[in-house]
Amino acid sequence: MEKINQCSICGRSRFSLVALTKDFGEAQDEVFNYFKCLGCGIVLLLERPEEKDLGKYYRSDYQPYSSRYNFLTEKFISHRTKKEARLFKKWNKGARRLLDVGCSFGKYMKDMRDYGKFSVVGVELSGEMSDFGREKFGLDIRQGNLLEQNFDNCSFDIVVLSHVIEHLYNPKEIVEEIYRILSPSGLVFIKTPNIDTFERSIFGRYWLPFEAPRHTFLFNKQTLRFLLGDAFAIRNVVYEKTPNNIILSIKNYFVDKKYPQSVVNFFNLNNYFLLGIFTPIAFLLGLLKTSGRIVILAQKQ
Ligand SMILES: [Zn+2]
Repeated sequence: MEKINQCSICGRSRFSLVALTKDFGEAQDEVFNYFKCLGCGIVLLLERPEEKDLGKYYRSDYQPYSSRYNFLTEKFISHRTKKEARLFKKWNKGARRLLDVGCSFGKYMKDMRDYGKFSVVGVELSGEMSDFGREKFGLDIRQGNLLEQNFDNCSFDIVVLSHVIEHLYNPKEIVEEIYRILSPSGLVFIKTPNIDTFERSIFGRYWLPFEAPRHTFLFNKQTLRFLLGDAFAIRNVVYEKTPNNIILSIKNYFVDKKYPQSVVNFFNLNNYFLLGIFTPIAFLLGLLKTSGRIVILAQKQ
């Protein structure tokens, strides 16, 4: 384990405890504590696995690596991607080159290439996923982390981080690198859990996006704004309306209470009955700006 005694975002060293939780997927005997920095408000793990040991906390069926979606989810995702392509063009008319950091097997890249006519490049840690995306869709996916790629200054007009920033060990350094590789008026598009959600008040330590220890930092609108600093102007903020966090947080509860596997397995994202119940609730939370996922578009100044 690696211990931090200073906030990696603002440098201060006073914290308050937010939640004692654990990995409901894998290492269930290990407890992880999330703290809030009293300086900048960011929520983080002060004790986290060393980067070299991270592999044991990611299973190959880890959900973001999965390509199995039901028909409705597929429809919803392609509708959303088209909308995002239009949003990028709205703020940066000439935008052409898109980089997806943590692109998995490149589904989003492929859709952005098809719908938005962007020229797309991806970066992905997993060798298995980057190989798959290259072979299946013929995409330019570079294996490794962003810093290793040494892209030239101003290489991209859009950089996308979808459910990536909460996994990073050095988000500040990554934001600085993104600033460097973005063209003038370039866009950064970030999707991440929203720690200031009503979902967390209900589910507490079972709230899915704690995802200990895979999620090292958890943000809200203010801390994202602070992280991006004066180098970027916020252009658009959306609170996503998806029932995923709700369904899988309930699953965490049943896993922890050692309910039979049949009960645990009932709580999955292809269950139309649960989607029917929780989608309207998720919709309401989104409208009230208190859903569990936030999406921010910011522009290089
Ligand atoms: Zn701080």
